[in-house]
Amino acid sequence: MKIAVLTSGGDSAGMNAVVRAVVKVGILKGCEAWVVREGYEGLVRGNTEALSEQALDDEPINLPDNASTDGSSFNLIHNLRFGDGDLLKDGTGDHPGSRSLKGRYIVRVGFDDVRGWFAEGGTLIGTARSKTFRTPEGRLQAAYNMIKEGIDALVVCGGDGSLTGADVFRAEWPKLIESLQSEGRITAEKAKLHAHLRIVGLVGSIDNDMSMTDLTIGAPTALHRICEAIDNINSTASSHSRAFVLEVMGRHCGWLALLAGVSGGADFIFIPERPPTSESWEDEMCDCIHRHREVGKRKTIVIVSEGAIDRNLNPIKAEHVKDVLTERLGLDTRVTTLGHTQRGGRPCAYDRVLPTLQGMEAVETLLEATPTSPSYMIGIRENKITRVPLMEAVEMTRAVSAAIEAKDFEKAMSFRDPEFKESFEGFLKISTLDQEKIPEEQRMRIAIMHMGAPAGGMNAATRAAVRYCIRHGHTPIAVHNGFRGLLDDEIHELSWLGVDSWTARGGSELGTNRMLPSVDLGAIASKFQEHQFQGLLMIGGFEAFSSLLLLEEGRKHYPAFHIPMVHLPATISNNVPMTEWSLGSDTSLNALVDACDAIKQSASASRNRVFVVETQGGKCGYIATVGALATGASLVYTPEQGIDLDTLRRDVRFLKTRYTLDAKGRSEGRLVIKNEVASQVYTTDVMQKMLKEEGGTLFDARSASLGHTLQGGVPSPMDRARAVRLSIKCMAFLEREHIKLLKQPSKARHATPDSAAVIIIQSSSLKWVPVQEMVAHADMKNRRGNNPWWAGIKELAETLAGRPQLIGLHAKDLAQI
Ligand code: ATP
Repeated sequence: MKIAVLTSGGDSAGMNAVVRAVVKVGILKGCEAWVVREGYEGLVRGNTEALSEQALDDEPINLPDNASTDGSSFNLIHNLRFGDGDLLKDGTGDHPGSRSLKGRYIVRVGFDDVRGWFAEGGTLIGTARSKTFRTPEGRLQAAYNMIKEGIDALVVCGGDGSLTGADVFRAEWPKLIESLQSEGRITAEKAKLHAHLRIVGLVGSIDNDMSMTDLTIGAPTALHRICEAIDNINSTASSHSRAFVLEVMGRHCGWLALLAGVSGGADFIFIPERPPTSESWEDEMCDCIHRHREVGKRKTIVIVSEGAIDRNLNPIKAEHVKDVLTERLGLDTRVTTLGHTQRGGRPCAYDRVLPTLQGMEAVETLLEATPTSPSYMIGIRENKITRVPLMEAVEMTRAVSAAIEAKDFEKAMSFRDPEFKESFEGFLKISTLDQEKIPEEQRMRIAIMHMGAPAGGMNAATRAAVRYCIRHGHTPIAVHNGFRGLLDDEIHELSWLGVDSWTARGGSELGTNRMLPSVDLGAIASKFQEHQFQGLLMIGGFEAFSSLLLLEEGRKHYPAFHIPMVHLPATISNNVPMTEWSLGSDTSLNALVDACDAIKQSASASRNRVFVVETQGGKCGYIATVGALATGASLVYTPEQGIDLDTLRRDVRFLKTRYTLDAKGRSEGRLVIKNEVASQVYTTDVMQKMLKEEGGTLFDARSASLGHTLQGGVPSPMDRARAVRLSIKCMAFLEREHIKLLKQPSKARHATPDSAAVIIIQSSSLKWVPVQEMVAHADMKNRRGNNPWWAGIKELAETLAGRPQLIGLHAKDLAQI
């Protein structure tokens, strides 16, 4: 099959990762890969204006006829490169040298032509909005151009318009073929060969505005850009006691504004799906902000979605919000319109992993497509890559806009996923000073504690917990430095304003350590009693889980532990059993991506060099494995799989083959990601020396240990948003369990095992698991969960580097290249 991929509509980070994945996986599956420059416009223009047939820069790689390869190795070698990858990457379409992209819009590419593409923002193959493609004549020409190049399958990455265009094109295809044949432009044989078009869509859109998928490609990176801006604005706003109104993108979808509001700690947000409830939004906003100022807030942040409206569908514009704040509250107010900076920049880890997995699924979908199957859109639902009928998704997306136009805001919200709604409710709970005090007797003194190593999002979770407590009338008590601090009475009550700037802070504001309560369970019980704790929130990793287990077991002897207790998983190792994500796991992945981008640059700059990058993670290979996919590493070593001599021998052979096949005269850096304890014997140092020795004249080897840098500086927006969502759920859990306990006689309250639980994320739903039940899913010795969701990713990452195919090549064949 010949597969072409194009990007259309507005550009978004992650589009290059889609192209890279489609090209690589297509070739590994035995297909030819093509890219279409400038979206549908390129399809209409085709290669008719090409100056001449292009000669290859490099000699094609010719294996001897009797070479011992299997089919996929053969296809990989014969599609390794066609020489245009660099022209596309450098944007030098009109190259003064021998090759040029001038007049060529449908371009064949090889496996190596897309190397390293996914670290680049935007789309290297270009995007455009094509008026001609909207016309039947334009689509007829597009069909002709595709058939001319022999292309029979198309991957389209764009917004709902682009995906509609794809569906129209496919539906019309038989008629187009008929016309081309009757006009004599294609032969009957060609018409028969191209009777059906296979098409698949991926959603590239920074707004996250597509229904039936939880996340669109590019939205997470845009959120990163917005949060970086808010973090920067926060400090200047505070210094001058100013108000800032930020306008962010999102014509029909408030996802960016909402998530930015939650993770940036905004005071007020305006989104299209849920306008302010009162007739006068001006009064509502001013009342809220005035109260924040009264308690002593020195800065005000208001976020306005591009498509924000009031209840009567009148647009709410940033300039007007600014005038209201200035005139009514006398605030020195500035407007910042982030505009196109939101689209730009290096893709975050999410926008490398997600498009890669979706690009792989797109190729599978094309291979399985039949003339009667619908056109599919590849999405993600509950952490699983999905295929949904493309037009169903487009229609549902349009239904949101229609509901907004009909002022049916409930309906508009109902089309958004549950996370969106929870985030909105969460924002209201933690951002305003409104009170929802519960009856006096139900109010609690809630202890909040950090455990284990710091992880991004711990402080944001604490901030949300504190604000929830204050809203409901509970007393939030910080326990500093874990159980050690508790024994030393390092506790104090937290305030609404005191935690205001904690969202963006990395590390642990409360202080944390690894000491377990088993150090002196009796003394800890007496501290619980002394400080009258009625609920406990522990934020941390495996230590917090182990501590909760000890406290629950300790209930047999100590009545003070008969209170509701929760563990909110937060650890960069992501090793808490059963949960797919912990707070900090996204921040650390981004820290790894940043470090590896820099390392790869240095590795390629000097000469052929392999970098062995050591990651933290204890005996859990999460960061190494998902990090390998996010950084395009060639090999990955995890504690789960360990390292043995046979594997090393094969891996060395793979690297040698890989460097032998590289274009002459270029230096290429490659990454090997290794967890710190993947092997006791084959340590990072040993591996680096071994690779250096074995690399000989082909490649050099160096190592880098990322150590604590993986804890990340500033928490990622995803971790902050998750922190808020999870923390609020934890507080509600403590309240529920407390009410159950209140029904028992006060002298002999007996908490059930269910009241000591861990909150986990599975398939993007939140679940409660009693800590005792977690034990069955835990490998307590190695401090990790059983059967993690990411286990298969190691193989995917190495497949994308071509390891399985290249290992199959024999040295004698290579010697003849
Ligand atoms: P964004 O969300 O960034 O605006 P989009 O994909 O929705 O992305 P559009 O401008 O709506 O952007 O569409 C991109 C291109 O898709 C159009 O320029 C046009 O070439 C093609 N297209 C859109 N709708 C149709 C249609 N109904 N029929 C044919 N082609 C279409």
